[in-house]
Amino acid sequence: MPSGRVIIPAAAALLAGLGLTALATTRPPSATERIQQGLTALSDNDLARAERIAVAVAEANQPGSWRAWLIAAAARQRQGRYQQAQDAYRQFLALCDRPAERAHAMEQIQRCHWAVAPRKPAVVSQMLNENQRRALALVSERPYTESTEHFAVQAYNAELAKLVARQAETALARICEEILSSQAYPHIVNVYVWPDAVEYQKHATSAAEWAGGSFSLTHGEDGQLIRRIDLTQLDKHRHFDTGTLDRVLPHEMCHLVLAEYFGDAHCPLALNEGLAMMAEAAVDNARLLLAGAALAGNKKIALPGLLRTEGCSADNADVFYAESFSLTAYLHARLTREQFREMLAQIKAGFPLDEALQRALYVPPDPAFLERLARAWEAEAIRQAQFLKALDANPLAPS
Ligand SMILES: [Zn+2]
Repeated sequence: MPSGRVIIPAAAALLAGLGLTALATTRPPSATERIQQGLTALSDNDLARAERIAVAVAEANQPGSWRAWLIAAAARQRQGRYQQAQDAYRQFLALCDRPAERAHAMEQIQRCHWAVAPRKPAVVSQMLNENQRRALALVSERPYTESTEHFAVQAYNAELAKLVARQAETALARICEEILSSQAYPHIVNVYVWPDAVEYQKHATSAAEWAGGSFSLTHGEDGQLIRRIDLTQLDKHRHFDTGTLDRVLPHEMCHLVLAEYFGDAHCPLALNEGLAMMAEAAVDNARLLLAGAALAGNKKIALPGLLRTEGCSADNADVFYAESFSLTAYLHARLTREQFREMLAQIKAGFPLDEALQRALYVPPDPAFLERLARAWEAEAIRQAQFLKALDANPLAPS
């Protein structure tokens, strides 16, 4: 719980700012004095006592006693009781009108939210039974709309609109928090689910990357950015396409978030596609197997070439995607959140990936860095593929 250490000083500083640390000792304890006792318990890490005092004060309804909600919230947060901590922060917010304190409480609510948010989008294809699949393949006369915090989803199936909206929120949370190391995304995305490929081609803003879906980032007439994702409901056999939720939606959403993050800066296609593949609901072992085989054999795209690639021909597309996924996952696993975030920031600032990486790692510039990175990544990718193959060949291996 990395945020824990900052909670007590932050809460203490805020309460000091509110004039709550001045003590008067000649009367029965006032709300201010009780709050000070709660704060002391919090500093002593006596969290249960801090919470007990704080809730008693807060509920006593004396002048200023509502401020104790901040102590109750911090005590609960430190105990990992994130839901109750959020409740206390909200009680505080309801009564507090000072911007700094409000910002602190809102940030902590966000931290509590991330602490309990599901980290992976559901693998929908494994969740649905035959009846549910059939129901999701129905196409209604008119579209339904489902709205959530970040999405307005339109689909020709009410249940599907709800499912897409839920999956979209989970995927976005994972992309911003885990893959991009805490990027904020205070925007609304319009998601359109078209019944089939024909309708999709007719309506989608950008049908360039045909994989059952696409994203677009355009300027409206008033100059506002319009964020949009187009998807398809049915495959060519007119069955519900579970890949839309498992793969296409999180993949295109990651591209959308990245497009806005990088703006005019150049992000290597390999990294862009690699991150989008990481956002998908399940790791595709076939990609890791192919990357290992390519790097060990004669279909290899060497790292400098991989990073220069701006588009790929049909005959090496599989290897390009497989290696891009392998490289990105390799970097993501080896860097800390801060290092990964810094690498992205340096790429956004205009540095090529190897320089951005050296800057993020605070190592002096080394002309052989790219070569060393290539060797380390290739060795790991080959090892990983061998491991997966051995696992696959072992009948006792857990599936
Ligand atoms: Zn893509």
